[in-house]
Amino acid sequence: MEREAKTKKRVQVAIVGGGIVGTLTARELARYELDVLLLEKEAEVGWGTTKANSGIVHAGIHEEPGTLKAKYCFPGNQMYPKLCEELDVSFRQNGILVVALSEEEMDTVRMYYQRGLKRGVPVRLLTREEVLAQEPNLNPEVVGAVFAPEGGAVMPFELAAAAMENAVANGVQLMVDSPVINAWAEGEQKYLETPTHVIEADVVINAAGLFADDIARMFGDDSFSILPRKGEEYLFDAQLEGMVHSTLFPVPRSKTSKGILVIPTADGNLMIGPTSDDMPVKDDIGTTAEAFERIFSESRRMVPGLDPRKIITQFAGVRAASDRGDFVIEFSPKVPGLLHLAGIESPGLTAAPAIAADVPKMLQEYGLNLVPKSGFEPRREKVVRFRLLSREEQDELIRQNPAYGRMVCRCETVTEAEIVDAIKRGARTLDGVKFRTRAGAGRCQSGFCQPVIMSILSRELGIPMEQVSKRGAGTEQVNFKAKELLGKGVC
Ligand SMILES: Cc1cc2nc3c(=O)[nH]c(=O)nc-3n(C[C@H](O)[C@H](O)[C@H](O)COP(=O)(O)OP(=O)(O)OC[C@H]3O[C@@H](n4cnc5c(N)ncnc54)[C@H](O)[C@@H]3O)c2cc1C
Repeated sequence: MEREAKTKKRVQVAIVGGGIVGTLTARELARYELDVLLLEKEAEVGWGTTKANSGIVHAGIHEEPGTLKAKYCFPGNQMYPKLCEELDVSFRQNGILVVALSEEEMDTVRMYYQRGLKRGVPVRLLTREEVLAQEPNLNPEVVGAVFAPEGGAVMPFELAAAAMENAVANGVQLMVDSPVINAWAEGEQKYLETPTHVIEADVVINAAGLFADDIARMFGDDSFSILPRKGEEYLFDAQLEGMVHSTLFPVPRSKTSKGILVIPTADGNLMIGPTSDDMPVKDDIGTTAEAFERIFSESRRMVPGLDPRKIITQFAGVRAASDRGDFVIEFSPKVPGLLHLAGIESPGLTAAPAIAADVPKMLQEYGLNLVPKSGFEPRREKVVRFRLLSREEQDELIRQNPAYGRMVCRCETVTEAEIVDAIKRGARTLDGVKFRTRAGAGRCQSGFCQPVIMSILSRELGIPMEQVSKRGAGTEQVNFKAKELLGKGVC
């Protein structure tokens, strides 16, 4: 479509990218009388690096002093309990342990302990006996550990989707399937072009993750580059729940990685990873046998009883590391009113609430007049998680709405009513349903329930089955109707 034919739209603030940084920023800005629009290139928010990470709310002891990572990590950690309570998102404060397997490694553990004390992070030094009492499945050769009880685990996609839902309920506009393909400035005004729209904005917030340097360059700003760094992770069957309680970190051996971890996720599964490999491209999310071997041998140094036969799935995410080795949180030196929230690699998930909370202040300093919105509602409507309810509560729900009695995903105990609710809250694809409800995330990996979920999506969205996709255009699951195949003489 020619630019002239595209729909024109004017807003005060346009956010590019609906990852955890963009969605939480949108929610923060929804607290003010501002016209805010978030543009996301995918069919749903939260599908970039935010979907594929370890989900750890870091304690704030790993980050080097003087970095933006250190500035935002611990404050972000402290915001999590209230944030997840307001947005009704799965979160638990199970603590993190950095484990020493030799006397030499104890030096680093003591350094983390001292750093924690200095930053006000609650930390305790544990002896071998204390660590083993807390984590009986740990390698008995453990020498000691530092324990940070306020480290936690969250479901990152759930948080991004919930933040967006809450931002939209408070007046933020969301456009999905809207990649920014061109951008420029004319005087004080900034323009963003998508395949269908030209958006004019007073302020543009660049939260495009791996592609943040591309967005900056569209504006003629080459002040930073993104250097992709891949991390593979492997997820165990729910049977292993309880084998490890806190997230286990080894003493890191490199400056760009915290090492291979053993991670109890927010919903009770056990996960191992991630690797940390520099990549020549931004979109390689394949997993490899070589990385699997590396992850297994490293994680078994800490927990020897981990059984590779209990792995049910694996994935990879790509960190958007900047060439500065730190977050890039600043107004563009070239384009007034272009705010970069870029290079948000680990611990970006943890830091994101604190980064987002700083944005209104930065916009005010730029000259935007921020008037608090009187009707801002920080809470989103609670989500029913059928599997977590008592028998009596389940029976009562089924009496009120028989769709709670129709079990769709047997592995994860997800009902039709929960899937319908997820669609009402913004799910448009199989992945959107899976990440919101866990339907299809269990042992059979949606082998049984996918056709049923597809028919619910088709019915609720009013689209034919052929348009139901796994994750947006190009990933549709039904290519032909059986009748058409018969017509082609295929069967
Ligand atoms: C393997 C791995 C493990 C990690 N573990 C942790 C952890 O345990 N704890 C922690 O704190 N951090 C962790 N991180 C880091 C964390 O995942 C990131 O810091 C965080 O997700 C970054 O969020 P973001 O919003 O900046 O980027 P993203 O989530 O990538 O969001 C950017 C968004 O911009 C959109 N976009 C891109 N280009 C365009 C365009 N042209 N137009 C419109 N939209 C566009 C994308 O589709 C995407 O939705 C991990 C990272 C990896 C890779």
